[in-house]
Amino acid sequence: MASLLLKHIYKVYPGGVRAVNDFNLKIKDKSFVVLVGPSGCGKSTTLRMVAGLEGITSGQLYIDNTLVNDVESKNRDIAMVFQSYALYPHMTVYQNMGFSLKLRHEKSAVIKEKVLKAAEVLEISDLLDRKPKELSGGQRQRVALGRAIVREPNVFLLDEPLSNLDAKLRVQMRTEITKLHEKLQTTFIYVTHDQTEAMTMGDTIVVMNKGFIQQADSPVTLFEDPVNLFVATFLGSPQMNIVEGMLVKKEGKIGFELEMNKENVVWFKEETAKQIINSDIDFDKHYLFGVRPDHIKISNKGIPAHVEAVEQLGDETIVYTKIEGHKNNVVVKSPLLNNINVNDDIHLDISMNRVYLFDVLSEHSLIGMPSFNKLPCQLKDNKIKVGKSTIVMDSEFMSHLLAGAYEKDRYLAIKPEHIEFEKNESNAPLNVRVDFIEKRTNYNIIFAVVDGVKPYLIFRANKDRNIKVGDELDVYLPLEHISIFDKHDDSYYSREIVYPNKAIAKLKTRNEKTYVSIIGGETLVYDNLHREDGEYEFVLKQDKCKPVFKHKVAKNIKDPLTKVNKGEYLKVSCYDEEPQHKTNTIFVKIKGFEEYVTLNIKNNFSVYKMPTFKIKVPFDGFELKPLEK
Ligand code: ADP
Repeated sequence: MASLLLKHIYKVYPGGVRAVNDFNLKIKDKSFVVLVGPSGCGKSTTLRMVAGLEGITSGQLYIDNTLVNDVESKNRDIAMVFQSYALYPHMTVYQNMGFSLKLRHEKSAVIKEKVLKAAEVLEISDLLDRKPKELSGGQRQRVALGRAIVREPNVFLLDEPLSNLDAKLRVQMRTEITKLHEKLQTTFIYVTHDQTEAMTMGDTIVVMNKGFIQQADSPVTLFEDPVNLFVATFLGSPQMNIVEGMLVKKEGKIGFELEMNKENVVWFKEETAKQIINSDIDFDKHYLFGVRPDHIKISNKGIPAHVEAVEQLGDETIVYTKIEGHKNNVVVKSPLLNNINVNDDIHLDISMNRVYLFDVLSEHSLIGMPSFNKLPCQLKDNKIKVGKSTIVMDSEFMSHLLAGAYEKDRYLAIKPEHIEFEKNESNAPLNVRVDFIEKRTNYNIIFAVVDGVKPYLIFRANKDRNIKVGDELDVYLPLEHISIFDKHDDSYYSREIVYPNKAIAKLKTRNEKTYVSIIGGETLVYDNLHREDGEYEFVLKQDKCKPVFKHKVAKNIKDPLTKVNKGEYLKVSCYDEEPQHKTNTIFVKIKGFEEYVTLNIKNNFSVYKMPTFKIKVPFDGFELKPLEK
C-alpha cells in the first residue's frame, strides 16, 4: 500500500537530453496507473526515477508523504518487473522466486510460505520445480512477476512487461495482471507504448509525448475529452479522423468547411457555437476538425464520399472513404454493414454531438473541455482581477510570481478538473452563472459565465451534484493550481520562489565611465550613468539579461560570443531551470546576491548543458534604488 506524489519532476541526462519535464502526478494508494506514449517520450525514465534507479534532476518525489529523492532504491519498498524477465537459468522457478528473500536472509520456512502463496496467486504452483528453459514466454513472465510479489512491495513498477510475448499471450497476460492488481491491492505503475494495453488496464492513464505529460485521466475521459490533437489521435482505434478546413459564420450559424470546400460544410450544434462565439477563436481561418470513426454514419445525406475499401470484422465494419480535397481516408466504424461495397458513392452523416476542433499551431482542443481555462485578468499587488470579480491571493502565491505576471494581456489559467465546490483556507471563490451543461459518461461539463469576461469558465461536476442551467453559484479555485499565462501559454507562476534579484552596489563615476561594483561580487562598467557616487540597491531585471557562451551550445544560437569583455558581464552558476513555451526561466547564483536570481532567457538552450556561463547585463538591465537609511 502506498500513495505517490510526483511534483515538478525533471530529468535531464548528461549531455542535455531533456527526458522528462515538469512531471506532476498524484497517485492514489492501490491505483493502477499506466504511462503511455511513443518510444522515447520519457516513460521508462519516469519509472526508473520512481524506482530510484535514475537520479531526479529537480523536483520532489514522495512515497507515502516521505520525500524519497535521496532514498536508495533498495529502501523504497518497491519492486520492478522489466520487459526482459532475466530469470536465472540454472535455478528452478522456486529458487528464482525465493532468491531475493534468501539474499535478505529470510528463514527458509518464511521463503517457502511466500513463494507458495505467490505461485498460487499466479497459478504456477505446478511449475515450481522447472527451470526457465522449460517454460513458455507467458510462464516466464509470471515467474518474473512472482519474484516481485514475494517481496510484498508497496509499489509495483512494470516496464513493458508484455512486449516480448506474442499477441495472443499479451492479451491474456493483460487480464492476468489486472486480476493480480485486484488480488494484491497494491499500487501499480505500468509503462507501455501500446494504447490498447493502456486503455484496458489502467484506472488512470498518463499520456506522454516528448517528455511532457499531455493529459492524465481515466480512460473514458481521455477518449471523450482529449485536450489536444496528440491525445485525440494517439488513443482510439481506428484513430480519430482529422480534416483541415475553415471555420465560418453564416446566417447566425457556425460551420466548418471541410478542406475549404464550400459545398462540404458541417454545422456545429448550438452549444458548441456558443462556446466558439464566446472564445477568442477567429473565423475564416484554418483549423483541424476531428471526428471519431464511430461517430460517422453511412447515409444518404451529409458529406458526399466514395468508398475505397471495406473491412468486415465479424461484428463490425470499417469503411475507408474518400472526400473531395482530403488526402487521407475518412474512416467510418459501424456495427455490421452488409450492403456496402468498394466504389459505392455514399454520404457521411457526422454526429455533431461528438466532434472536436483543434488549433493548427498549438494543437489544443478548442471546443468541449479545454486543457486550461484561460480567463483574461489583471494583477495588482496581491489581487487578480477577473472581469468584475477580484481574487485575493496569499503571500505564498505572490512569492512564486515572475515580474511579467503584472503586465498587460495576462490570463488566469486553471484546469477544469481543479475547480472545487467547497470553500477551504487555500482556495478562492469566483461567482459564476451556468449557461449550459454537456453530459459525459463520468460527469457533466459545466459551461459558466464569469461576469465581465468573454470565455466560459469550464469545469466538471459529478452527476449527483445538482447543478442546473441558470444557477448562480460560487466555485472555488485552489490557489496552488492557479497560474498566470500569456497568450502563448508561457507561465509567470514559478515552482521556485522568486526572490527580488537584489544586491547592494557601490557606484563611482570617473572619466565618463560608471563603475557599478556589486558588494561581494563583480564590477560592471558602463558609459556615464549620471548617477551620484554612493551605495545603491541593485535590482537585476528578469527579462533583460542574455547568456553568452564561448562555445556553440545550441542550434539556434548562431553567433557565440568569443570575446567576453569584463565590465558588461556577470558570471552565473546555475541552480535550476523551468522551461516555458517560448522562454526558459532560469534560477542562478551570482556573487553578491543573497538568494538565487531569476532570469528569463530564450528557451533554445538548457542550463544543464552548461552549468556556468556569463550573462550580459545591458545598462537598462537593472534598477538602482537609493538605499534607505
Ligand atoms: P520511453 O521509455 O518513453 O521510450 P525513455 O525514458 O527511455 O523513453 O527515454 C526518454 C529520452 O531520454 C529519449 O530521448 C532517450 O534517448 C533518452 N535517454 C534515455 N536514457 C538515457 C541515458 N541513460 N542517457 C542519455 N539519454 C537517455
